[in-house]
Amino acid sequence: MIQRTPARIEARDTSTCPEPINAKTDHRDWQQILSQSVTTPEQLLERLGLSPEAWYKGALSGHRLFPIRVPEPYLARIQPGNPDDPLLRQVLPVARESEAHPDFVTDPLQEDGAIQTTGLIRKYTSRALLMVTGQCAINCRYCFRRHFPYGDHKLSQNDRQQVVESLMSSPEINEVILSGGDPLAANDRLLSQWSSLLDSIPHLRRLRIHSRLPVVIPQRVCNNLLDWLSRSRLQKVLVIHVNHPAEIDQRTREALRQLSAAGVTLLNQSVILRGVNDDSATLCELSETLFEAGVMPYYLHAFDPVSGAHHFHVSDDKAIQLVNNMLKTLPGFLVPKLVRELPGQPSKTPLNLGS
Ligand code: SF4
Repeated sequence: MIQRTPARIEARDTSTCPEPINAKTDHRDWQQILSQSVTTPEQLLERLGLSPEAWYKGALSGHRLFPIRVPEPYLARIQPGNPDDPLLRQVLPVARESEAHPDFVTDPLQEDGAIQTTGLIRKYTSRALLMVTGQCAINCRYCFRRHFPYGDHKLSQNDRQQVVESLMSSPEINEVILSGGDPLAANDRLLSQWSSLLDSIPHLRRLRIHSRLPVVIPQRVCNNLLDWLSRSRLQKVLVIHVNHPAEIDQRTREALRQLSAAGVTLLNQSVILRGVNDDSATLCELSETLFEAGVMPYYLHAFDPVSGAHHFHVSDDKAIQLVNNMLKTLPGFLVPKLVRELPGQPSKTPLNLGS
């Protein structure tokens, strides 16, 4: 097997990313949109017309545990003045985040034990997870990595070389998953360098990207991103993360269409969340909306018991009932697999729909 010497990676990039030529609406650069995100309880409540008397204290206590971050394109899809909006619930901190529950922990998937080298997590035989950045474009209150020590996983030049050497010496790995944080929060120069390095590892077949950015800031799908994706010899799979059909608007559809035209296979993963999507009509509509946008429903995750997010918990019995209802309504290919990630298992574990 030919072992090519990996090129060196430069971390710094100050380049901007122009909009796709045929973008019709917002022409701001995605990094500018990201930098203008709402990041305080005051801004969020004011922007959405919510009463500070009712919401500020709880929002502040949750914000201190896991800071608010909501970008404008996502905010624009939230109905002002409606505290029950399913998109708002995903981003508004509440007092219940301070509650302790014995089975809800800071590292529910025990990822700490799966770290192979700084930035590289190895849970499964043929896939490895590469954490290119700890940053996200949106801070989702239910995130199972809300306590992850991203600061310990910043990649130095030396760490990057070790990641590549580790992948080079693991011929059983055929797929690298760019994760984070949100990997598309990294700039395209860095991502393009990673892409070239991964291209040069002969046994790799696929590059998978897990990202919420094309949904929450669709302007992220810009020419620079499409350019390095198109150049890669690897098969590209992008797994987006959408929990409710109202998260997909026309601009997001356009971004997804461009990714698909660049040869990227599009899948979606969702999490069952109380008060957001824990009814079968919403989940059916989500599958229909995704498919119309060219995205296949892939996984529906049972809730991971992360501390600070107990109020989103949906029981396994209810999750099973919801998916059985979906099976009665939708064609089989629009019903995502209901799974749970259990630490130490060789794959995701499907929940038994017959129980
Ligand atoms: S990793 Fe994904 S789910 Fe977690 S906060 Fe970031 S975007 Fe949200």
